[in-house]
Amino acid sequence: MTEPIHLNGRAHAGTLADTAVPPQPQPVIQVTDMVKDYSRGSSVVHALRSISLRVQTGEFVAVMGPSGSGKSTFMNMLGCLDRPTSGSYVLDGVEVTSLKRDQLADLRGKKLGFIFQGFNLLARMNVLENVMLPMVYGAIPTPIRQQRGKVALDAVGLASRMYHRPMEMSGGQQQRVAIARALVNAPSLILADEPTGNLDSRTSVEIMAILQRLNQVGATIVLFTHEPDIAAYCSRTVVFRDGVIQSDQYNSRPLSAAEALANWPTSGDAEEAA
Ligand code: ADP
Repeated sequence: MTEPIHLNGRAHAGTLADTAVPPQPQPVIQVTDMVKDYSRGSSVVHALRSISLRVQTGEFVAVMGPSGSGKSTFMNMLGCLDRPTSGSYVLDGVEVTSLKRDQLADLRGKKLGFIFQGFNLLARMNVLENVMLPMVYGAIPTPIRQQRGKVALDAVGLASRMYHRPMEMSGGQQQRVAIARALVNAPSLILADEPTGNLDSRTSVEIMAILQRLNQVGATIVLFTHEPDIAAYCSRTVVFRDGVIQSDQYNSRPLSAAEALANWPTSGDAEEAA
């Protein structure tokens, strides 16, 4: 019997239920009046101009906006990779802005899972070892880490590939490994930075289907994307422009990636789903 992964207090043992979870009242993200200024020579760049945003447990949010609008800066703030010039950021009940560097790193490891455009897997490690990496700093015995790694890989349909090297896998499979790695510590928040940016359109929808399934069993996801087609699978879209939130809209009927895949036209260049 494998140990279940807990997403926001909800357990699943590798099999993902299809029931939608309504957003809970507890916010995972509470950003208030966040400002980030960069100095560039003698001038100041106002990258974020008093951003306020609340994201509840169980939301699936797309962040969009043109180049230079402040998305990466905001992603770095949400990911506890940088500190704002002023304002408040409460992540799952913890005020982030007053933490020291090592406390930030600790918080990142415990509460956040990251998915990147370029997958960021270590080539010299096999898939399971890559997925186990975020647990390396915790005092978790190896058998438990292996077990959790296998459950996370099962959740993305790759349990059978755990001893493969990343380079032996397709881009879509590598991104699924990266999703398993993001899940393995049962984070409060998954941050996805252009997760489909390096993938063809069908593989992108496969990745969105996995993210939608995880969201349906409780994962809170904030996904940064340039692509409206990808944002259409999310239940809320926040658009940045010139360092402010230009719009913030809920989508009560997001597209279903599973349905899109079921109706996908047969095509020679579609990547094989493992
Ligand atoms: P986006 O991700 O939407 O393209 P960014 O957050 O990267 O936007 O950038 C917002 C603004 O902040 C831009 O004007 C950019 O040039 C500036 N900026 C970002 N990072 C730095 C930095 N480290 N130093 C100076 N200016 C920066």
